[in-house]
Amino acid sequence: MRDGDEWVVNGQKIWTSLAHHSAFGILIARTDPDVAKHQGITYFICPMDAEGIEIRPIIEMTGGHTFNEVFLTDVRIPDANRVGDVHGGWSLAKVTLGNERVSLSSGGALWGMGPAASDLLDEVRGGGGCDDPVRRDQLAQLHIEAELLRLIRLRTVTARIRGEQPGPEASIRKILADEHGQRIMELAKDLAGPHGMLEHQRAGGAPDLWGWHWGYLFSPALTVGGGTGDVQRNIVAERVLGLPHDIDVEAGRSWADARRG
Ligand SMILES: Cc1cc2nc3c(=O)[nH]c(=O)nc-3n(C[C@H](O)[C@H](O)[C@H](O)COP(=O)(O)OP(=O)(O)OC[C@H]3O[C@@H](n4cnc5c(N)ncnc54)[C@H](O)[C@@H]3O)c2cc1C
Repeated sequence: MRDGDEWVVNGQKIWTSLAHHSAFGILIARTDPDVAKHQGITYFICPMDAEGIEIRPIIEMTGGHTFNEVFLTDVRIPDANRVGDVHGGWSLAKVTLGNERVSLSSGGALWGMGPAASDLLDEVRGGGGCDDPVRRDQLAQLHIEAELLRLIRLRTVTARIRGEQPGPEASIRKILADEHGQRIMELAKDLAGPHGMLEHQRAGGAPDLWGWHWGYLFSPALTVGGGTGDVQRNIVAERVLGLPHDIDVEAGRSWADARRG
């Protein structure tokens, strides 16, 4: 709600990556409950040290602490921190999410980070090769997928250099890359046999964050964070293939109305 030159924000947001390290966060706030749900949203840059912000850690099954639950109680954000029009934040949010998908797309299997299919192939070659025909077939398939993803990535980078905004092709890449990452981690675990149950450690005992073990435990998150695979498929269906819009039982209702229902 607006109060002069400030906005007073109350609410809660789960899964906020790196909130405990961040100076600023992007805050997408409901500013008008009486319009359709994609309207009435405003986009702010929120200082993470503002009074009324509480950051509670969430520990993942990797044992790490990447994300948090953030509570906002009467947090005052200056109107100068608003990006774009009042109630017009949804279109900006979509641009941000499109860019996030591109930023998650460099070479590694874990949202562009960590080991890639080529690292797994190197490990197999280094260990004397693999004569199991099923495993060999899976390795070849991963190599093919990695090459396809590399070419899609080059196409995306070229489009960005031309000044084009990321479009639905970023969703196609995310669907392919996330499931590819999960397959790499799963095959690495299978190939490691009983050793796969051991955690890799760096010298000094620190966990090897980008090792196969950590990656295997992190990999289920790939198809959830940054927009789930199901939602990416809806984007591809509607915006690339031109299929009818997904059924929306809240269509035509205001946000407040839908919440009451
Ligand atoms: C590692 C990680 C980091 C994250 N970091 C951040 C962050 O920094 N900031 C942030 O804001 N969020 C972050 N998230 C949250 C993430 O964006 C959401 O979890 C994700 O978008 C899914 O939303 P949800 O959890 O509300 O699930 P829901 O939307 O409730 O989905 C639940 C299930 O229903 C399916 N579903 C939902 N809608 C549809 C539909 N229309 N059609 C078909 N199926 C559907 C989904 O695919 C899913 O299987 C992070 C998540 C992870 C895993």
